[in-house]
Amino acid sequence: MELPLRLRRRLLSLIVAAPLGGAAAAEDRYAAARQRLLAEIERDMRATAGSTGRAALSPRVAQAIAKVPRERFVPPELADRAYENRPLPIGHEQTISQPFIVALMTELVDPAPTDRVLEIGTGSGYQAAVLAELVARVYTIEIVRPLGERAAEVLKALGYANVEVRIGDGYLGWPEAAPFDAIVVTAAPEQMPQPLIDQLAPGGRLIAPIGSRYGIQQLQLLRKDAQGRIVTRSVLEVRFVPLTRGR
Ligand code: SAH
Repeated sequence: MELPLRLRRRLLSLIVAAPLGGAAAAEDRYAAARQRLLAEIERDMRATAGSTGRAALSPRVAQAIAKVPRERFVPPELADRAYENRPLPIGHEQTISQPFIVALMTELVDPAPTDRVLEIGTGSGYQAAVLAELVARVYTIEIVRPLGERAAEVLKALGYANVEVRIGDGYLGWPEAAPFDAIVVTAAPEQMPQPLIDQLAPGGRLIAPIGSRYGIQQLQLLRKDAQGRIVTRSVLEVRFVPLTRGR
């Protein structure tokens, strides 16, 4: 049945103006928390600019942080703390990284819409989701099977069809899908893994916490230029869980 145009317009405005209820209201509560978190991240960006070289998030990265529901990536009993700017336990002695660090690492690899990105250390899947908002395709590797499987489920439930999760040792990278425009390492190796450098495309960016297993590590940003030359700089002192091998 065709409704007169004026009536159709009125119906549409009624639908749009309807108050949020149930799940939508909960969603909205977290949206406000996400905006507060974003403001805290921007403060941290300004405070560390002298060392990181970036005083603010680019609009695309800020938008991704404002969109990804971090509460879905933490254990249900921690959902209400999901928007604190701090790491949280996700089981198996692992953590979901601090939101500021996720935002900073994402920012520093300059994610572009056509990029193919590799992440080492899927953990909760949150960093992968943030990347998935920004690039064409994300490949992510997790060594603890139950974590990787859980992350894959959450990512699928949220509709991230451009993320592929693999269980394995990320030190070795993902040779079949290489080269990558960017690589984000979220567990700390003692040295920059050579297989990952090899799997970086010319013009590619690799960010990783490098250093001793239980001390302070240096977040390092490595660039490979068009001729394949490597330049590395230290960005910030950080503390990540160690990159483990052969589990
Ligand atoms: N990026 C994650 C945080 C990860 S914590 C997030 O957004 O939630 C680091 C993760 O790296 C842990 O889950 C740990 O199990 C994993 N990990 C450690 N060594 C690894 C390796 N060699 N290969 C792949 N994953 C590894």
